[in-house]
Amino acid sequence: MLYLNGSFMPAAQATISALDRGCLFGDGVYEVIPVYSRHPFRLEEHIARLAASLASIGLANPYAPEHWQSLVRQAIALQDYEDQSVYLHVTRGGNGERDFPFPDDVAPTVLINPSRLVMPSAEQKARGVSAISHADFRWLRCDIKSLNLLPTVLLREAARQADCAECVMFRDGMLSEGAASNIFVVRQGVIACPPKNHLILPGITYDLVIELARTHGLALEIRPISEAEVRSADELWMTSSTKEVLAIVKLDGQPVGSGAVGPLARRMDGLYQDFKHQVMRQ
Ligand code: PLP
Repeated sequence: MLYLNGSFMPAAQATISALDRGCLFGDGVYEVIPVYSRHPFRLEEHIARLAASLASIGLANPYAPEHWQSLVRQAIALQDYEDQSVYLHVTRGGNGERDFPFPDDVAPTVLINPSRLVMPSAEQKARGVSAISHADFRWLRCDIKSLNLLPTVLLREAARQADCAECVMFRDGMLSEGAASNIFVVRQGVIACPPKNHLILPGITYDLVIELARTHGLALEIRPISEAEVRSADELWMTSSTKEVLAIVKLDGQPVGSGAVGPLARRMDGLYQDFKHQVMRQ
């Protein structure tokens, strides 16, 4: 069951116009919320980021935060599995014309589609994953969680063809982020990540990792990171709502540090799991 434009319905009955601007132009934004044992994790933060993405593209938010939260909870309750990934998608709708400027008086398209949560495997958690690197050829508003995902499609396909889980991107010699994750670097016991700006998505997991590092007194620097620093790092992690904290142990075929999951990756993953379970018990 999913939610489309005001009603819950079986997925097979949910249809959107072929002339929807989401389909024609990728004119919309989205969110992905992890759900553990039917508890949506960091729901308020995801709804707030959705509001920020909508504001950035000049699309009026169709619902108040409380209404979004209620719809997400209703969608979760309708599924017959416990751990979910809830996809939210809002487009500028359509008026049957293919014209670039915003149309007048057109209702947005709103979709809420839960699916089964696919987490990293036990082996990926224990042994880490491999990544390739790539020039960051995306636009200059990567802070918007936009439906224009062709770069992500191409980058993740390149990673898949290299038998890798992620693609680490550099722009002008500096680390930006992963194709669908934020990247953290560890050097000499210090955790570092690039600052939030227009070049990266303000990750919900990124924020939580920073919060956990600060709460537990781990050394942390938020600053621009050069490609050379990434390539000589002791540890590299990717973070995202569905991958959580996942160590990258090989970059472009070269081992990262010792080539095994590092001590700070294990520590942060432990802190993350503890936090998650504590929140779920509340
Ligand atoms: N950066 C990009 C480009 C992403 O697509 C994602 C998630 O899909 C992230 C970072 C991680 O964001 P979050 O932790 O909110 O899932």
